[in-house]
Amino acid sequence: MEDCIFCKIIKGEIPSEKVYEDEEILAFKDINPAAPIHILVIPKKHIESLLKLEEADYELVGKIQKVINKIAKQLNIEEEGFRVIVNCGKDAGQEVMHLHYHLLAGRKLGSKIVG
Ligand code: AMP
Ligand code: ZN
Repeated sequence: MEDCIFCKIIKGEIPSEKVYEDEEILAFKDINPAAPIHILVIPKKHIESLLKLEEADYELVGKIQKVINKIAKQLNIEEEGFRVIVNCGKDAGQEVMHLHYHLLAGRKLGSKIVG
């Protein structure tokens, strides 16, 4: 998508600190981290939100879980733990309309999942 920030990051038009990349998935550091480790894992395909997933995308979504698993091990956070968040739509505060998984770790995240 032309004016999508994450598509620009994928194309290298906007710099990012990459943590993982393959043909279909990219992971990079969030520019405004909410925890010591805050990574965004995104499909390279422009999908606006979780609600816009099509039948054929579920395999890709499965691969994203696998990549999150791999990154957690790579960063040695599997013992301490981490949280994965997907914001969808207005009330969740989704700002970037390109599906992304927040991976948060590196501090006690608290028991509440909503702010
Ligand atoms: P959301 O509110 O779920 O849509 O999350 C969007 C996230 O993208 C926020 O945590 C932002 O800090 C992050 N973000 C926005 N622009 C960039 C960028 N250029 N590089 C890295 N992260 C970004
Ligand atoms: Zn996009």
